[in-house]
Amino acid sequence: MDIQKIIQDLRDELNQHNHNYYVLDTPTISDFEFDQKLKQLQELENQHPEFYDDNSPTQRVGGTITKNFNTVVHDYRMYSLDNSYSKEDLVDWETRIQKVLGNVPLQYTCELKYDGASISITYENGKLKRAVTRGDGFQGDDVTNNIKTIKSIPLKLKGEYPSRFDIRGEIILPFEGFEKMNQELIEIGETPYSNPRNTASGSLKLQDSSEVAKRPLECLLYFIVGNNLNIESQYEGLEAARKWGFKVPKEAKLANSIEEVFEYINHWDTHRHNLPYETDGVVIKVNNFHQQDELGYTAKSPRWAMAYKFKAEQVSTKLNSISYQVGRTGSITPVANLQPVQLAGTIVKRASLHNADQIEKLDIRIGDTVFVEKGGEIIPKIIGVDFAKRNPDSEPTLYITKCPECNSELIRTEGEANHYCPNFYGCPPQIIGRIQHFISRKAMDIEGLGGETVALLFNNGLVKDYADLYELTVEQILPLERMAQKSAENLVNGVQKSKDIPFERVLYAIGIRYVGETVAKKLAKHYKNIDALQNASLLDLILVDEIGEKIAQSVIEFFENKENVKIIERLKQFGVQLELVEKFNPNATDKLSGRTFVVSGVFEKFSRDDLKKAIEDNGGKVGSSISAKTDFVVAGDNMGPAKLEKANQLKIPIISETDFLTMIMD
Ligand code: AMP
Ligand code: ZN
Repeated sequence: MDIQKIIQDLRDELNQHNHNYYVLDTPTISDFEFDQKLKQLQELENQHPEFYDDNSPTQRVGGTITKNFNTVVHDYRMYSLDNSYSKEDLVDWETRIQKVLGNVPLQYTCELKYDGASISITYENGKLKRAVTRGDGFQGDDVTNNIKTIKSIPLKLKGEYPSRFDIRGEIILPFEGFEKMNQELIEIGETPYSNPRNTASGSLKLQDSSEVAKRPLECLLYFIVGNNLNIESQYEGLEAARKWGFKVPKEAKLANSIEEVFEYINHWDTHRHNLPYETDGVVIKVNNFHQQDELGYTAKSPRWAMAYKFKAEQVSTKLNSISYQVGRTGSITPVANLQPVQLAGTIVKRASLHNADQIEKLDIRIGDTVFVEKGGEIIPKIIGVDFAKRNPDSEPTLYITKCPECNSELIRTEGEANHYCPNFYGCPPQIIGRIQHFISRKAMDIEGLGGETVALLFNNGLVKDYADLYELTVEQILPLERMAQKSAENLVNGVQKSKDIPFERVLYAIGIRYVGETVAKKLAKHYKNIDALQNASLLDLILVDEIGEKIAQSVIEFFENKENVKIIERLKQFGVQLELVEKFNPNATDKLSGRTFVVSGVFEKFSRDDLKKAIEDNGGKVGSSISAKTDFVVAGDNMGPAKLEKANQLKIPIISETDFLTMIMD
């Protein structure tokens, strides 16, 4: 067999799947199958380093470290755009154009203005050669290694393309991915990022490309430059780029007159709030390349293009009061309670105030009329005060000094923006938050217990820490609101079942600050049990691969606290997994970890019970019925029609016994 061909075919196949998933949004295989194939390719590449290729899909995971990014000169300058803010501005622009071109009919390409960081990518003979930030327009930073990890950017082009060209676009972070990143930061007690745009542009200059690979960045393309492109217009260029495999938003449109441009603007002024990413305007470009050439450039920007900026939606309303929320780690967030008002299609009642500095800087007082704006963030923010309407008797806002929940004196560490409540063990939202984290899906995944029930249990004095969960009895829970015999039993059983959760997830669940899922895995693997971790010195911890000083310090502080040690001791007595279990089963792996399977039908090679055992031995979970949480249905003969329909409806992949065997074999 021709190994080189096998490798090349696998690369092509994986490139196609990346394209289907990240550019077309229509994956045709499961993530799991994708990972398997990628692993297979990686192994072949390891065995045959002679076929190494810079642009193999295996390079997407990153791993190169760049200490200093090289400055490189752009082959074609990257210009800015002129801005316009009204339709009159645009009419004036058209008049200026027609003065140069004569009174010829004009076509415009209308595109959304994506809000992120611009990038210029060079392709040579269909392969990604280098990627450079805008910089000052003449020269920028070479960020090729980081850019290659963004999966919507093709490493190899399809179809027929010019032999060399630059393509330009915007690196963005869609809202959903941004929220998810922030959720993960909040989970481990870190400060969330403030907006998608800065996070996207900061990502380009991260030193470790594998960190970039983890971020759900995308690249939206809008412009091709080069010699002998054989393209006559902007719109044609967009269509060509799409064919070569780039992500070009379908929102781009051709307008046959300035009136049609206005229609486009009007449409997106209201509909932009439904887009998955942030836009702050529209870019209008004279479509024909010859006309573009004739119009040329000013010192800063093309004369043939114009940005139209949307007005950020803003309203004014009254600030009724300020409330203060206490998070799981004790950090305090002030929230503005507003007179309800309509803004960007929703009714706004609350706005974030960030922290004490922000309140002081804007001099926000209760009773003020304030301006509220909706930008990229989900929660609107207060951007200023209408001082003309201020009541002369109003007093400056005094930030709270005591915790609103437990009355402890708040602290504020030098250099940190937020105030904290230090009463880790006595402050209700902190206690409840910690237990909620403990039971969450990625942690102990306790079935039959949800966040609200945790609050209920705490408020009724049944739990004060997560170890108390293991002593709960059905009799104790039954008297609680809306608690039936069945649900009480489920809760207790769910808690007991969590004793099987492996050590690394327990380590994540106990909520050491800065110890997220990945770090917990690393620590578990290195120390093997909680005692060894507890006894580790700061230096010892720092020496563990990828553990920095901040995490190490936090681990030390966690175990210095006697209260924590007591709770861990109790978990140990209850039989929670506090050490890595080396399973005796020689066939055991963790290949299926994090996956839930539902088994249906009759099988040839397995009895149903053996199949279920094989799933569990390989780290998977067996679900009893198909739901959104199911990852795969393993189907034998005579699979029930109801199950089949359900699986199809939820788009859950149905796999055969043989597919399953390939999953667990290597
Ligand atoms: P400005 O930064 O305000 O000068 O605006 C120019 C920038 O807008 C360009 O450098 C691009 O990064 C960005 N941009 C976003 N969307 C587009 C688009 N559809 N066409 C051209 N530029 C765009
Ligand atoms: Zn408190």
